[in-house]
Amino acid sequence: MSNLIVKELSKTYQNGVKALNNLSLEIGTGMFGLLGPNGAGKSTLMRTIATLQQPDSGCISFQEIDVLTHPMELRKILGYLPQEFGVYPKVSAEKLLDYFATLKGIASAKQRAAISQEVLELTNLYDDRRKSVSDYSGGMKQRFGIAQLLLNRPKLIIVDEPTAGLDPAERKRFLNVLREVGTQNTVLFSTHIVDDVHELCNDMAIVNHGQVLKKSTPEQAINELEGKIWATKTSPDELGSYKNKTLVLSSNFSSDNSLIIRVYSNTKPDRHFSAESPTLEDVYFCVLQSKEHTGQSYA
Ligand code: ADP
Repeated sequence: MSNLIVKELSKTYQNGVKALNNLSLEIGTGMFGLLGPNGAGKSTLMRTIATLQQPDSGCISFQEIDVLTHPMELRKILGYLPQEFGVYPKVSAEKLLDYFATLKGIASAKQRAAISQEVLELTNLYDDRRKSVSDYSGGMKQRFGIAQLLLNRPKLIIVDEPTAGLDPAERKRFLNVLREVGTQNTVLFSTHIVDDVHELCNDMAIVNHGQVLKKSTPEQAINELEGKIWATKTSPDELGSYKNKTLVLSSNFSSDNSLIIRVYSNTKPDRHFSAESPTLEDVYFCVLQSKEHTGQSYA
């Protein structure tokens, strides 16, 4: 069942950039990954759903709420973590959460202490609750961002590129927290990191140029490429000729300095190629590149 329904959303900024181009999307409970390159329109979509900016046209509903005409209704049940949270004051996590909880209208000090403890435990920050948030590491700050948005027990959670800039260990810890939060709620999470979606999301959309190019579960998208991904070793000089003949999805140098290319093709391109198991990265490049090459999405 869809909780969040986005219909035919368009937005052109004053400089003429069309950030959203008649975009439609339906999202159910769980972790939904919005995957796309920089400039695809992810933040614009998220800010619009979070009622921070108006689209030129289209509609958005979350459960029974008409989001664009009743933004205050949505804000009561929304948790939003923007890409840039700004500067934190030199105040302990515990005190800051108490302050945010007051702002969110929780009048009783006892209730504020209870919910603060709950969100600190959920985000694995309880042991560091007396440390100043301004001294937290990048990953801890991002988890604190999740802690503060959980204070009003949101039903819809929107997090914009939360893993950008985190080191691998911090990223893993952050994704684990989000996974926990995502089991009960609708979580919309944007990233340009394919592995984030693979590790975390039960559903996803690939967006570019303000449009949804593909919407599917990660598993289904991978299965659709079964038997169509091929790889071969080549040299940088030959890459151009392969690009003319086939849809080259990715090229990576191997340890002996030769180039391994992965291509999309319904049949084996030539005898040098071997069949490969498709990955979500293949899906991502396939969707983005086939659109650029042919104007059509591959599926
Ligand atoms: P993403 O989050 O996928 O990187 P954005 O929604 O931030 O994409 O941006 C989509 C496009 O809109 C980009 O070309 C970006 O430069 C442009 N854009 C975003 N915000 C503004 C703005 N306030 N004014 C003008 N152009 C903008």
